[in-house]
Amino acid sequence: MRGPAARSMNEPFTGFLREDLAARRRAGLYRTRRVRDGLPGAETVIDGRGRLAFCSNDYLGLAAHPDVAAALLAGVRRYGTGAGAAHLITGHCAAHHALEEELATFVGRPRALLFSTGYMANLGVVSALLGRGDRVFEDRLNHASLLDAGRLSGAHLTRYPHADAPALQRALAAAGGGRRLVVSDGVFSMDGDLAPLPDLVRAARAHGAWLMVDDAHGLGVAGADGRGVLEHFGLGCDDVPVLVGTLGKAFGTFGAFVAGEETLIEALIQRSRTYLYTTAPPPALAEAARAALRIARAEPWRRERLRTLTERFRAGARSLGVSLGVAPTPIQALIVGAAAAASDLSAALETRGILVSPIRPPTVPEGTSRLRVTFSALHEEAHVDRLLEALAEVWPRRDGARG
Ligand SMILES: *Cc1c(COP(=O)(O)O)cnc(C)c1O
Repeated sequence: MRGPAARSMNEPFTGFLREDLAARRRAGLYRTRRVRDGLPGAETVIDGRGRLAFCSNDYLGLAAHPDVAAALLAGVRRYGTGAGAAHLITGHCAAHHALEEELATFVGRPRALLFSTGYMANLGVVSALLGRGDRVFEDRLNHASLLDAGRLSGAHLTRYPHADAPALQRALAAAGGGRRLVVSDGVFSMDGDLAPLPDLVRAARAHGAWLMVDDAHGLGVAGADGRGVLEHFGLGCDDVPVLVGTLGKAFGTFGAFVAGEETLIEALIQRSRTYLYTTAPPPALAEAARAALRIARAEPWRRERLRTLTERFRAGARSLGVSLGVAPTPIQALIVGAAAAASDLSAALETRGILVSPIRPPTVPEGTSRLRVTFSALHEEAHVDRLLEALAEVWPRRDGARG
């Protein structure tokens, strides 16, 4: 129904929303979308203008790779555009099945299970493993999907201080009964640092807890062969029974997977609501992901290039007095502090043709707003130098600045 009556019935809601929007603007937290056109890459078109971008998670530069695109097109010809049903009805195709097997081999685990997105994988796994009366322990800087997963599961949620294994130990020691799951990002998405996984493994093991690691930003990138943070630390299925990976970042496509023992995967197929009650991802996408995985394995130069670019950037940024974290990954956080200051710096870089996202609360804690720079194997050294030159012009000079 339209008209004055409907309008006044809506007023309490629209009034509340208008007020919230105004408060976000005042706090410098208002978010707007940019419209990108054309292929993703170092040079990209945003809102109709060419920009040098340092914002994407396409670390290996596979999102526009011709072989990945060709695999997608071949997949469409073979399977059509959509899966047409959930995995447990008729949606599970040969392409999904092959991708699961190849992902399991890649991460060195008995089995893998595809999910439509990383967000859904995390919700589905934690809720399948825990319920009321159980306990979940999460790093306080975990990705939002992991924290939401903990909350939705109904288990008691404890957030321990970032990367603080002794604090986790104490929380585990103080906790009561029920099943226990420790959950951490592998590479923290907004800081780029690695979780102290060997310490988390010891803590979990000492207190009869399972460990789940979401390696969305480590897979394809970290470890000598790109098998992620578990490879970097030399950890296996016994140490970290639940491994989550995503396909929308280093693998340049879309989707996610969970890898572990047979029993875990079979249980998830029965119990994960975000697996059961949703359409299977388009099988053509699985074909594209298979091609991306092949390239990621066959071309280690992409990982090496990321390391070279990251080192070059860190050396240059340090000499500018930019406050950098300890991250050994292509995610480099330039901590600014106030949300408005981060937005202003991002805008100043953009007037110089460079795109770097400001990251503000609630994505990161209050007072730690930042510029998040990410590198891709498609960046060149000259691109890093252009970013450093622009930063030299806009980064606030402070005497005695932290280095
Ligand atoms: C991006 C991300 C996700 C979400 O994955 P999607 O496939 O984009 O839904 C989950 N966890 C972490 C750590 C991420 O960075």
